[in-house]
This record gives sequence, structure tokens and C-alpha cells, in this order.
Amino acid sequence: MAADKVLVTGGAGFIGSHVVDLFVSEGYEVVVLDSLVTGRQENVNPGARLVDVDLRDPRLDSIFLEERPRFVCHHAAQASIQKSVRDPLEDVDVNLVGSLRLIERCREYQVEKFIYISSGGAVYGEPQALPCTEDHPVRPLSPYGASKLAVEFYLSAYKQTSGLNYTVLRYANVYGPRQDPYGEAGVVAIFTGQMLKGEQATINGTGEQERDFVYVEDVARANLISLGAGDGEAYNIGFGKGTSVNTIFNELKRLTGYGQQPYFGPPQSGEVFKIYLDIAKAKGGLGWEPAISLEEGLARTVEQMRAQLDASG
Ligand code: NAD
Repeated sequence: MAADKVLVTGGAGFIGSHVVDLFVSEGYEVVVLDSLVTGRQENVNPGARLVDVDLRDPRLDSIFLEERPRFVCHHAAQASIQKSVRDPLEDVDVNLVGSLRLIERCREYQVEKFIYISSGGAVYGEPQALPCTEDHPVRPLSPYGASKLAVEFYLSAYKQTSGLNYTVLRYANVYGPRQDPYGEAGVVAIFTGQMLKGEQATINGTGEQERDFVYVEDVARANLISLGAGDGEAYNIGFGKGTSVNTIFNELKRLTGYGQQPYFGPPQSGEVFKIYLDIAKAKGGLGWEPAISLEEGLARTVEQMRAQLDASG
């Protein structure tokens, strides 16, 4: 087993690639496992090695045999709520069965720590009280939320039966550079992309729905800390504050100089109306808290996306 080798699944994706950047800069040897279904090769830090394989591929065993990672950080997923509503079987195949295949290898090859990425926006359902603490009842509104939560239960069971050590990070709405502006998730990236190109931006529903927006580099830091802390626990990783989609729209409008009014479309099914997370447990248990304000994070995101658009002509 390499002293400080981390296998990051989904490390070519939006959030996973920032986690890889941080691990590499901290001196870890990083192997990225990613099928590139939504991820991109150019997101992968040149200091990491990409293994272009699906989580569900039988070659997973030989990858573990060869690499023997000390830590596994699991970001690979079917990450769209709307896709999970359209195709729950594909969602469960990647997010539950795929995750279990990976967890089985971690058990077999005695991985020291498994970091699992869950969703604070999807596992609680419509909140009974805000902000949501980790012990809020879990009542997912979408197949995506259900499959994310199921893996949390399996991890708890594995800890009992095989001693596999883990930390669950329940992310809020993560935003920042490299988020897909064409995807179905990620309102910040979608609006920024549309505004910079002068296209019509659509708000689903009234825009008064609230989310907890947290900057991607803050989220990456929670992963680094979790390599050595938070054993057997689940933590909310968010900003701890609700912001409406209308507020995000207006702030991005200001930053991009967008001149148009939004079009208001129908609300999305499977999504909660208002949610933000209590992050006191992560502050206490991980010594983690976000450092980048929404204003700063949005400005950095717009700047990066503008540079990318300019570069692509
Ligand atoms: P993303 O789509 O950019 O990243 C997912 C990565 O996983 C991609 O690189 C993709 O190619 C890879 N992948 C997908 N299926 C795979 C498979 N079967 N085998 C191997 N690789 C596969 O999405 P993201 O927003 O960076 O999400 C990363 C993780 O964070 C996911 O687990 C997601 O559910 C979770 N999450 C994201 C948010 C958010 O706000 N973006 C919020 C809560 C949780």
C-alpha cells in the first residue's frame, strides 16, 4: 500500500477535479477513476493519473490490486436529480450498485478511509425545520436522494460487519469554476453561461426557492480534513445560509452586465422548495468552515467562465 495514495472517483468532474488539485498540491499521490461520462480529461490535474474506467467495470478489482490506495474518495455519480426521475434504474445502478462494488473492493483491500459524497439537498426532503441538522428526518423526494442515502446506510452496516472506516460529506449546492453550464444541475453555471453569451435565461418556478450555495474550493478542503478526521460520521458541508434563485440571478446579472429579464418556466419535480444546512457539526467535528463568501465565489466563477469563453473564441 502506497503511503499516501488516494483514489478519487469522479476526479475528472466538476467537484472531484478540485479535490484532486488540493490533494496533489498537498503532496498526495492521486489516481483518478472516471469514465468521462460527464467529466473531462482536461479537468484532471497533470500531477494525477487518470484511469478511464466505469465504476461498474469488472476491471475495478485489478485496479485495486495494482494501485492499493490507502484512501478512497468517492465522487463519481449520476449527479442529476432530473435524470434520476426519468431513469431511476440507471441512477441506482451507478449510485448504489456501483458504489457498493467500490466499497467491496475497499473492504477487500483494507482501505484505511473511505470518503463518501452524499447530498444535503436531496436526502432530507422538504425540511421540517431550517437550517437542517444531520439528524433531521431523511425523506428523499427523488430516486437520486434515495440512492445517495442508501449508500450511507450501507456504510454504517459495513462499519459494523467489516470495520470499514468512512466519513460521509453531505454537500449543499456546490458552485465554482469547471461546473458544466449545459448540465441540469448547477444554477450558477447555467445562468453565468447564458448571461455571458447573451442568451435567454430561464428560472424554474418563481425563483423564490432557496438553496445553500457553497464554493467548490471550500468543499475540497472538507475532503482533505476528512482523510484524518470525522470517522463514522456524516457532516453537512454548506454555507449554512439560504439564498433565493432570484438573488443569484440578480447578483450574476450585475457581475456579467446582462441586460435581459428572466423567463419564468415551470418548477422542477423531485426538488425541494427551500433548504439550507446547519454546519455546526462540521465546524466542531472537522474544524471545517467555509471561507469564501457568496459575492467572492460568484465573482471568481464569472471571471473564470468569461476567460474560458474568450479563449474558445
Ligand atoms: P460531475 O458530473 O461533474 O462529476 C461526476 C463525475 O463522475 C464525472 O467526472 C463523471 O464522468 C464521473 N462518473 C459518472 N458516472 C461514472 C461511472 N459509472 N464510473 C466512473 N465515473 C463516473 O458532478 P459533480 O457536480 O462534480 O458531482 C460530484 C459528486 O458530488 C457527485 O457524487 C454528486 O452526486 C455530488 N454532489 C454534487 C452537488 C453539486 O452541487 N454539484 C451537490 C451534492 C452532491
